[in-house]
Amino acid sequence: MADPSQLLLPIASRGEPILQQRAQEVADPHDPDIQTLIDAMLATMLAANGIGIAAPQVFVSIRIIIVASRPNPRYPDAPLMEPVAMLNPEILWQSADMVTDWEGCLSVPDARSPVPRAAELRVRYLTRYGETVEANYEGFVARIIQHECDHLDGVLFVERVENESSIVSESVFLKMTAA
Ligand code: ZN
Repeated sequence: MADPSQLLLPIASRGEPILQQRAQEVADPHDPDIQTLIDAMLATMLAANGIGIAAPQVFVSIRIIIVASRPNPRYPDAPLMEPVAMLNPEILWQSADMVTDWEGCLSVPDARSPVPRAAELRVRYLTRYGETVEANYEGFVARIIQHECDHLDGVLFVERVENESSIVSESVFLKMTAA
């Protein structure tokens, strides 16, 4: 494998038009450019200490997300999972049951807010090897999937908040959520 540091991509910040567009479907998962993009998204996400990333965040308007839950101070019970690349993900069903909890975003630095999300969902996607998968997720992983799928439709988490005044800076977030 190539040196991962060579794969790091710039991250688009709030206000970039590409973050406001509907991204295009992946036509062929086996396209070498798609494989390279997935590796670069993964390296970029890990370098930024992220738990998910969507292709528009690295200036590519195409429907690929990576979901990579791991336990963290805010979500100590979050499952540790191998990062999963989901191509052309579709949320087939989501529960009426909603949960409101904190989110942040690599494209919206220094902002955190509680966001309501469906507690559970069913998603269909292509793997990077072109296999179709359908799976159910709940809790933190379901939250990441909803957040990343929103990026594919040009929506940022700050547009999902119930009250603008609930958006706080990182330092205030750390104070508010300190034990
Ligand atoms: Zn995001």
